[in-house]
Amino acid sequence: MFQRLRSDFRLSIITLLGLSGFLGITPFAVLRFHQGDVVTGVVDVLILGGVFGGVAYAWLTGDTRRSGFAMAIVASFGAVVVAGLVGDPGLFWLYPCLITSFFLTPPRVAIAINVSSVVLMVVLGDAFSGLEQMGSFVSTALVVSACAFVFASRNEDQRRRLEHLATIDPLTGVKNRRAMDEELAIAQAHASRTGISCALILLDIDHFKQINDEYGHSVGDQVLVELVKVLRKNTRKSDQLFRYGGEEFVLLLPDGAGVRTVISNLQQLLRTHVKHPGGSITASFGVAELDWGETVDSWLARADDALYQAKETGRNRAVYAEPRIRLISQTA
Ligand code: GH3
Ligand code: MG
Ligand code: MG
Repeated sequence: MFQRLRSDFRLSIITLLGLSGFLGITPFAVLRFHQGDVVTGVVDVLILGGVFGGVAYAWLTGDTRRSGFAMAIVASFGAVVVAGLVGDPGLFWLYPCLITSFFLTPPRVAIAINVSSVVLMVVLGDAFSGLEQMGSFVSTALVVSACAFVFASRNEDQRRRLEHLATIDPLTGVKNRRAMDEELAIAQAHASRTGISCALILLDIDHFKQINDEYGHSVGDQVLVELVKVLRKNTRKSDQLFRYGGEEFVLLLPDGAGVRTVISNLQQLLRTHVKHPGGSITASFGVAELDWGETVDSWLARADDALYQAKETGRNRAVYAEPRIRLISQTA
């Protein structure tokens, strides 16, 4: 549980807001019933229910995007209703909602929720004791929202930039090994849910060191960039390409059915399109289709072994890994 809270920022925020909502709203709900104001008490209970529902949904499904959105809507519009019922003491509740909507939803969605709830409050009008109070409320609510929007947008921008730095290879622009580990785990989970097997192609340029040694490191770099261009242009949108390390790449195909055609196309493309001053490049391929119940480590290891065999048996060829089931029965 603590591990999930530590690794999922949105989930921890949703949980924190759920707890503070519970601690902040419950005494007022009790007070309303005690004062005989059943309608406001019921609205408070409904808000608490919505907040709890959001927290529970986030924990059970891991879908923090939807539950965050639902919680922001329930809290903001709930605060509008409460202010309409109890008058100006209820106005104060909208301020924490204006801020927390930026924690729960993306900045553009949050600003839309905030502006709509302020407009709704003005249109309903019941919350205000006079025009001056309404003006002060609208101005302060908009200032708070604008400041939070700038801060949240900057934060989102930095988060995206950090994610880019952490997952994209700067030379070729494809995803790196760290991103690959995550995507392989997702592909494996999808395959075990749907029963549709996926395939992994490990590609290693032949004698790449010679290109560096003979024509210089920048020519080697250019070859890597060209290779990626060719691979990206000639693979399907659903296929994913990763730089596994140096001159090794991984191509993840969501469906293993056409893998032999893909390989022969790639071999042809490398021959005709990826050139250096001494000619064109060749590559060796290790191919492994994910077996039922197989772990990502074992899947990668089989592709790696197949690549090793392709190198050992003369390079410029593809070796298809044996299914794991057969490997197990052979060794038994
Ligand atoms: P093999 O056919 O057995 O794969 O031989 P190879 O020469 O391709 O493989 P080896 O592992 O001996 O050499 C890989 C070379 O790739 C060594 C390393 O200097 C080079 N390399 C790794 N990353 C980069 C890079 O980003 N740019 C360039 N230019 N070279 C790189
Ligand atoms: Mg290599
Ligand atoms: Mg190589």
